[in-house]
Order: sequence, then C-alpha cells, then structure tokens
Amino acid sequence: MKNSQDIFNEGKKYIPGGVNSPVRAFQSIGSTPPVIKRGDKAVLWDEDGNSYIDFVCSWGPMVLGHNHPKVYESVVNAAKNGLSFGALAKIEVEMAKLIASMVPSVEMVRMVNSGTEAVMSAIRAARGYTRRDKIIKFDGCYHGHSDGLLVAAGSGVMTSGVPDCAGVPKSVTGDTLTAPYNHLEEVEDHMKRQGEEIAAVVVEPVAANMGVVLPQPGFLEGLRKLCDAYGAVLIFDEVITGFRLAPGGAQEYFHVMPDLTTMGKIIGAGMPVGAYGGKREIMETVAPVGPVYQAGTLSGNPVAMAAGLAQLGILKEHPEYYSQLNEKGDEFFREIEKIISKSGKNCRVNHIGSLGSIFFAQGEVLDYVSAKTADTEAFARYARYMVSHGIYVAPSQFEAMFLSLAHTKEQLSGTLAVIQEGFSRGF
Ligand SMILES: *Cc1c(COP(=O)(O)O)cnc(C)c1O
Repeated sequence: MKNSQDIFNEGKKYIPGGVNSPVRAFQSIGSTPPVIKRGDKAVLWDEDGNSYIDFVCSWGPMVLGHNHPKVYESVVNAAKNGLSFGALAKIEVEMAKLIASMVPSVEMVRMVNSGTEAVMSAIRAARGYTRRDKIIKFDGCYHGHSDGLLVAAGSGVMTSGVPDCAGVPKSVTGDTLTAPYNHLEEVEDHMKRQGEEIAAVVVEPVAANMGVVLPQPGFLEGLRKLCDAYGAVLIFDEVITGFRLAPGGAQEYFHVMPDLTTMGKIIGAGMPVGAYGGKREIMETVAPVGPVYQAGTLSGNPVAMAAGLAQLGILKEHPEYYSQLNEKGDEFFREIEKIISKSGKNCRVNHIGSLGSIFFAQGEVLDYVSAKTADTEAFARYARYMVSHGIYVAPSQFEAMFLSLAHTKEQLSGTLAVIQEGFSRGF
C-alpha cells in the first residue's frame, strides 16, 4: 500500500506541487514526501503506517514534542469558548506580559500570524521610527517570504535554483542592501557610504536557514555598535532561536540586545503565530498609538494564544529544561562529528544546543558562499537514506536539524546507529 504516494499525487492536481510550502515536496532530494498523519512526543506516523523519529519538529515550534498534554488541554479549553472574536481578549494581555518577562529587550509586543508578518512589520516599524528607507540583510538569512526580503534569501529559496524570486519587482528590493554573514567589515562599508539612510539591520543571530551557521565572536556585538553609531535599528530575527537557545532566545544566550525582536515558531507551539516587539519608544510608532499601520483580523487569536501561552509557560517555569536540551543537543551533534571523522567523509557539523546541521562540504561553513559549496547530491542520498530508515530529517541541505525536549536517549542513540551505518557503508 502506498497511501502517501496516492495522496501526494492527488494533491498535485489541486495544490501547486502538492504542498503548501515548497520544501515539503522533497523535490530537492529527488524524492516524494511521506504524508504525515499523526505526531506524539518525538515520533511521527505517516499514512502508510511508518513511524519516524522527528528531527524537523514542524521546523522548530514543537520544542516540547508533539501532542504535549498541557498544550493540548489549553487549546481545547480555549476552543470551547469560541474560536475568534476579533476583539481584545484577556489571554492576549497575558501572552504579551509573558513574552516581555522572558525576552530581555522586549518592553512591548504585537502579535501577528506568522514569522513572515513579524519581520515585515518590524521593518516597517523601524522605517517609521527612523524615517529612513534602506535596510541591510545578510546573504543566506531567511526572514519569511515578503517581497523586500527575498534577496539572497536562505531556506527553500536556496534549493529552488532561482537566485531571485519571480514576481518581486526591482523597485521593491531596491532598498534592501546585502552583506555576507559574519563579515562585519562589509556592514561597516555600507554604513560609511550611506549610514544616514539605513533604517535597520536585520539578522538571524544564529543563521539557521542556510543550514546552521554560528555567529563568529564579535559579529553580533559589532552589529550592535554599528547600529548605535549610525542610528539604525538592530532587529534580531529570533523566529528560530527565540525560546530555543535560552528562555530569552539568542539575545540572552549571547548577551547582545537588539532594538526589535521578531518571533514565531515556538511562540505558537504549532499554531500559526508570530510576534514582534522591543523598545517601547519604537513600538509606540505602531498604530493606533503611532503612524505605522499594521493590523490583522486573526492576530492574537485566542486559541493560538492558548497554545503558545501553555508552551511558553512551561518553558518559563522550567529554566533547567534549557540546560537539558542544550546538553542533549551538544552531545548528539558531537557524536555525529565523531562518526563522520572516523568515516573519513568530507562533512562538517555546525551546531549550537538543539540546532545543528551536517554540511556535505570540505571546509568550514561560516557564510552563504561556504554553505553553497556543499555537495547537495551527497546530502540528498543521505536524507533519502535517513527517511527510509525511519529518521525524519529536513529534505534540504540548507535546513536545520531540530531536537526537542521529548527526544529520548534511546531515540537519539538509535538515530546515531542509523547515521553510523549510513556513513560506514555509504548511502
Ligand atoms: C521560519 C522563519 C521565518 C518565517 O516564518 P513563517 O512563519 O514561515 O512565515 C522568518 N524568519 C526566520 C529566521 C525563520 O526561520
């Protein structure tokens, strides 16, 4: 029986590529996707009855694992009272207060429905606040699919084979300047040339959409200094790192404070949620207080808030979860490194806590150019092998591997055994 194949084929008739987000099609590894029916803790089941240890975790949100009883209960209870009112609900205030108490630089926050919306809106606020138009982003960083940010973007764009996205007018990206990740001197050059026109620098504090690329020591601190010197707003896109590296995200982990922070993924516990927040002075440029318009029919949706509030509440109550998760991740990725070095294969493991990726590349991977040297054919063979052996990894060289608190020692050692076998006998 091949239910997944049939469903996918049927889907292709009605949905572009059969999927609602491109990477899900498994196209970049020359395969077709298992259709997922159910998830519990760190395990997924597909429509064919196969099970998988899940290292995608819905691309990050499921940090507690799937089907966490407290999150589930919170969502069901909220749903009983109605799904949406388009009016202020108490839970929105509770959520904003909780986020502000966890994320060090956030004084005020606005809820939206996705990470894309969060970054798009934060940039608008930064432009409104500074009355400047230009922004700087980094090659290989992904900030969602809004027009102005689809320039040298990471994630699915990297494997789609199209350097620039069709349908985005040049006039819209004209104010987006780019610099290579980890190359502070190029940001400085932009600033020297046109610092008084630059509204914001937006960065993933750990780049996780060209595979995982860590910020080099001094990089984030340097961005902070340059933004201060030129009056630009520093935006940390913490859609992945937020509530993952530490309760307060990468800014807490690295002790560098941005002016604005964008959040998503973990903040919604699997529901469609995003948020942007930061300094009161900047957030008060947003309507109805200030002149920067930004709105949303379903923003702050009570059922979505119930999911996020439950998940963040658990994380806040258990700061020890972070040392557990980070140690678990560090150990797991170090073991992968050992397996690879014994095998003599040309691979690099970049990792930080529960985020990591195996680059099928020879040298160090520090930026977009070095990430692009990866052998995506070799990666495709590895990913197909992993999925066919019950390990669900992202079907792209340029996506991260995510661990959750629900992954058990046995599941991780089982995964290592599969990796070991793959590297020793070839994929
Ligand atoms: C996923 C992601 C986004 C986009 O979030 P969506 O919810 O997919 O719109 C933005 N920034 C980063 C860093 C992300 O990883």
